[in-house]
Amino acid sequence: MKSKLQVMKFGGTSVGDASCIARAAQIVSRAARENGVVVVVSAMTGVTNRLVEAATRAGLGDAQAGSALIEALRAQHHDALAALVPAGDARSAVVRRVDETLAEGHRLFEGTALLREVTPRALDSISSLGERLCAPIFASALSELGIRGVAIEATELIITDSYHGGAEPLIDVTRERCEARLRPLLKENAVPVVTGFIGATREGTLTTLGRGGSDYSATILASGLGADEVVIWTDVDGVLTADPRLVPDARIIPEISYREAAELAYFGAKVLHPKTLRAVMPAGIPVWIRNSFSPEQPGTMISRQGRSIGGGVKALTAIRDVALISVGGPGIVGVPDVVGRTFSTTAELRANVLLISQSSSQNDICFIVAASDAQRTVERLRREFAQDLSHEVVDHITVDPKIAIVAVVGENMRGTPGIAGRTFNALGREGVNIIAIAQGSSEANISFVVEDKAVKQALLATHREFGLGAPESNRSQAI
Ligand code: ADP
Ligand code: ASP
Ligand code: MG
Repeated sequence: MKSKLQVMKFGGTSVGDASCIARAAQIVSRAARENGVVVVVSAMTGVTNRLVEAATRAGLGDAQAGSALIEALRAQHHDALAALVPAGDARSAVVRRVDETLAEGHRLFEGTALLREVTPRALDSISSLGERLCAPIFASALSELGIRGVAIEATELIITDSYHGGAEPLIDVTRERCEARLRPLLKENAVPVVTGFIGATREGTLTTLGRGGSDYSATILASGLGADEVVIWTDVDGVLTADPRLVPDARIIPEISYREAAELAYFGAKVLHPKTLRAVMPAGIPVWIRNSFSPEQPGTMISRQGRSIGGGVKALTAIRDVALISVGGPGIVGVPDVVGRTFSTTAELRANVLLISQSSSQNDICFIVAASDAQRTVERLRREFAQDLSHEVVDHITVDPKIAIVAVVGENMRGTPGIAGRTFNALGREGVNIIAIAQGSSEANISFVVEDKAVKQALLATHREFGLGAPESNRSQAI
C-alpha cells in the first residue's frame, strides 16, 4: 500500500528538452517507489507561444506558418524521444501517437487558413497540441526507468464549461472521471501522465483553462482524487519575495498561506496560475513549489495557515499589460447609476476588472482591466454613456495603456499599522508617482497603480523598505 498520493506538475522549462524530461522522470520514479503519483505535464517550453503565433498567422490566411511549425515540432519531439527511448516497439508506438497529433494539428491550421478566421474553439485545439505531444514522451521516459507511465489526455478527465480560452471545471463530473480512469491505474502502480492546460465539455469539445493553466490542471486533479499533496515543479526554488527578473535579491519564502499565494498569483506572479489554489483550498491540500533543476532544495509550502514570518509584508508582485480606464467629470457627483452602469458593462463583456478606485469627491471612477480588454471596454462604455457625454454629465471616458499595478501582500499586514505609509514614503523618496491606490478590506494586500516604466523602481524601493531581501534573522527587525 503506497503511503500517500501526490500530483506532480512539470512546467514548460522542466520538460524543455530530453535532458530536462530525463531529470523530471527521475524525480517521479523516486517518488513513485513510495507514493502513488499522478503527473501533469505542460508543453515543452515555448511551444504554446509558437502555436498561438502560427494560429494568428493562419487566421490571416497564411497556411505556410502552420505547416512550417508542424515540421519543426515533429523534429523537436522526435529528437527528444530518440534521446530518451532506444529504437524499438515502444519508441515506434510513441512516434505514431506524436505523428497522429501532428496530423491533426496540420488539419487545424489548414482549416483556419482556409476560413481566414481563428475561432476561440480552433485556438484552443491548436494551443493544446504542445501538451498532447509532450505527455506520451514523458510517459515513455518513465517506462524506461521501470515505472509504467500511461499518457492520458485530460479531455477524458477534466470536464469544463464551454468558455474557450478560460474554461471552468465542473468538479463533480471531473471527480467521477478521475476515479473511474485514474484510480484503477494507481492501484496497478502505474503513473498516469496527464496533459496539463486542457479539458473538454460534456459533449467532448476540447477547451483550455487559460494560459499558464497547467498549474490549475494539477490542483483540479488533486481535488478530484482527494490527493495528499500537489508538487509544482518549475525553474525557481520556490515562491520568492518578488519576481527575480525584476528584483535580483528576492528570496525564497519557505511557507505561505493560500490567501497570500492567491493574492500574489492574482496580481501577476507568474509562478502560479491565478486560479490554482481555488481547487485545493476547500480540502486543505498543501501545494509545494519546487525547482526541478535543484530537487534537493525544499521549496515553498503553500497551505491553509502558512506560517507567518515577521510582522507584515511577505512579498510583492506586479501586473503589467493592463490599462487604466477612467470615467468621470464633475457631473457624475450624485448620479447614482454611473458606477452600476460602468460595471454592468464590464461584466457583459466578461472583461476582468483587476482593481477599482474611486476618489472621495466622486469625480472619477477608475478601474483596471487587461490591456487586451481595454479597447472594447472603452468603446462599449462610450456607447453606454453616449447621452451623458453629449449632455456633459460624464465629460470623459479615457484609457491609459502604459500602466501597471504593484501589490504588497501579507496576511499579517492586518493589524500592523503604518504599512501603507511606509510604502508610499519609500516610493515618494524614489520619485515614483502613484496614480491610484486600493486596499482590499481583507488587508492582505495594498495595491497601487504606477506608470509601467516605474515598475522596477517601485518594486526595488518597496522590497528594500520592508527588508524582504535581508537574511531572515534581520527580517523581523526590519519589518
Ligand atoms: P512553468 O513553466 O514551470 O510553469 P513559469 O514561467 O510559468 O514556469 O513560472 C515560473 C517563473 O515565474 C519563474 O521563472 C519566475 O521568473 C517567475 N516569477 C514571477 N514572480 C515570482 C515569484 N514571486 N516567485 C517565484 N517566481 C516568480
Ligand atoms: N502550455 C500552456 C501555456 O504555455 C500551459 C502551461 O504551461 O501551464 O500557457
Ligand atoms: Mg507556468
